[in-house]
Amino acid sequence: VMIGNLCTVVVFSAGLLLLSGQLTLVVAALVVPVLLAMRVLASYAHVWGERLVSSYSDLAERILELLVSMRTIRIFNREAMEAERFDVAASRVKRVYRRTEMLHSVLPVLVEFLYVPVFIAVLGMAWQLQIGVPTVLVFMLLLYRMQNPLKILNSARVRLASYAAGICDLQALLERSDKPYLVSGPLSFDGLRESVEFDRVTFNYAGSDTAAVREVSLVLRAGTVNAIVGDSGAGKSTLIHLLCRLQDPQSGVVRADGIDLRDLNLAAWRARIAFAGQDAELVSGSVRFNIAYGVESATDEAVEEAARAAQAHDFILGLQDGYDSEVGPRGLRLSGGQRQRIALARAILRRPDILVLDEATNAVDGLTEMAIQGAVEQLAQGTTVVLVAHRLNTLKRAQHVIVMRAGRIVQEGGPHELLDMPGPLSELYAAHHRLEEGV
Ligand code: ADP
Repeated sequence: VMIGNLCTVVVFSAGLLLLSGQLTLVVAALVVPVLLAMRVLASYAHVWGERLVSSYSDLAERILELLVSMRTIRIFNREAMEAERFDVAASRVKRVYRRTEMLHSVLPVLVEFLYVPVFIAVLGMAWQLQIGVPTVLVFMLLLYRMQNPLKILNSARVRLASYAAGICDLQALLERSDKPYLVSGPLSFDGLRESVEFDRVTFNYAGSDTAAVREVSLVLRAGTVNAIVGDSGAGKSTLIHLLCRLQDPQSGVVRADGIDLRDLNLAAWRARIAFAGQDAELVSGSVRFNIAYGVESATDEAVEEAARAAQAHDFILGLQDGYDSEVGPRGLRLSGGQRQRIALARAILRRPDILVLDEATNAVDGLTEMAIQGAVEQLAQGTTVVLVAHRLNTLKRAQHVIVMRAGRIVQEGGPHELLDMPGPLSELYAAHHRLEEGV
């Protein structure tokens, strides 16, 4: 459309010049300030366009924050204040939106008015230059016809200018160079037979100079219980993320039965993994819905069996509506330990090949500890368990312990063997030992 209009403008200008060079010069001299005025209007529209985008994203941020921080907001009694902040953001969107809409309807009219002096000047000049009436008429006609394509070109410019702000935001969002995109591979995956193997795997978070996981080589045998231990920041979660393929390593390879995870279909791989951690995410709906989540064929018996194995059955029966009780948004009507046990039941029901457990760091909830043991025992045959362990008791039940420090594996082996000799694991649990033995 723009190119067509541009051609029309060029051809018409040539016609004007042929008819009368002088008149055309006058028009050109007048059109320059008109165009300048339009430029100012366009930049004005751009500024308001930017304001509109920023007020929308403010509002979206408010909504997101309200959703995520519901609990904190409640605890600190900030409901009224948050509601007010929300109102402020919402009315800003309303105000800015009205202004931009008004601008869009007023601009064309303004442009129309800007052309009036041009026409009057042409008439006056023609009079003075004694140009014949037919020539002036044709000239005016051409000028008049040129107005439309010019207007279209200009409003396209104004519109482009006001959308540019939004487009910049989108570009920033879609710009993926700093977020490596995970590409799904072609191979299907229908179960782990031998092992998952980390081969000299290194992972660096963007913008961080030190690797979170450095040259890690590790074999997780199918059907065994593996515990990863280490201080906070040692790289345990990063290792788990690489295993679940939430991230790909910068160097080295993670393989499942000898196949690079990047060659496997992403959904097929993740479908065989279940995760249950202290931040386990529940969705609003009933307890039953949450346990059966993703397994449509699950029977009530299967749901109950999974709940029993995860030490959740008793507390669920104690809820007002039992298995039909609503868990609330993100499960916030339940305690942290209850949420984790439901997440465990969900994991058990899925019968994953690989179960990833993130043990709670606060050592208060004994029931959850039992639930984790229950889950591990229930799934013991054929399931590979990878658990981020904090408690000695959990650790002792693992077959293989991996001790991490500053992104590296510093010790590996059976729990009793490692605890019986001086070394990283003994150091890590020296304090716990004393506590548990009452020294
Ligand atoms: P752990 O689970 O053992 O506490 P993490 O794997 O979470 O350790 O962290 C390992 C290292 O990577 C830490 O130094 C941490 O600061 C860093 N790290 C973790 N997540 C990010 C992230 N999203 N961006 C940048 N650095 C991160």
